[in-house]
Amino acid sequence: MGVRLVMLGPPGAGKGTQAERYARNRGIPRVSTGDILRDAVQSGSEMGVAAKIVMDAGRLVSDEIMIGIITERLSRPDAADGFVLDGFPRTVGQAEALDDWLSGPAPLVVVDIEVPEETLVRRLSTRLICSVCGTTAVPAASVCAKCGGALTQRTDDDLEVIRERLRVYAKDTRSIVEFYRRRSTFRSVDGDQPQEQVAADIASAIASVEGVRQ
Ligand code: AMP
Repeated sequence: MGVRLVMLGPPGAGKGTQAERYARNRGIPRVSTGDILRDAVQSGSEMGVAAKIVMDAGRLVSDEIMIGIITERLSRPDAADGFVLDGFPRTVGQAEALDDWLSGPAPLVVVDIEVPEETLVRRLSTRLICSVCGTTAVPAASVCAKCGGALTQRTDDDLEVIRERLRVYAKDTRSIVEFYRRRSTFRSVDGDQPQEQVAADIASAIASVEGVRQ
């Protein structure tokens, strides 16, 4: 059984980048609820149209919709041997639903990436993503390193929406760090370091959990 990992942290902590990297190394899928929602927005589905309004305001999509999305996604065969969750859970209700839904021998490993607020605002207000594949661009790049697509700003990376997302994180999402913190499979990592160092710290944090479990 591969690892079942939850990557926690505020918006701009580097969850997406680190989740992508770790998932690739382990050969398991990265499941980003933000990406799933952005795909739904692009497809113009009824759910996508409704989600866009909530996302552009920096608020959270309802637990009911998110739990439906994640249980469908994690039921697919590619997630049977493990996965990295990026952006889910975001509320205690979602965390409890995930616990209820999961069964089997591998417990969740939870890594929280800690970054001070002023760094988050700077990162979010200057970051660009690929308009084609959605990958976060490397700083100072002019096109996407993965697919060559044009770079654009996320509609919710506007300064006012960033402030709202950080407020929503503090109000609704930070409490899930406390929800998981008492578990023996919880680790926190300093995310205010170069990307390579954060990746190395995450890998050793997860290895330390797996070492205890064996
Ligand atoms: P992200 O790409 O993870 O920053 O997510 C972008 C936006 O999608 C968030 O600001 C929320 O509006 C929405 N979203 C993503 N994941 C969730 C979730 N688990 N629960 C509620 N809303 C979510």
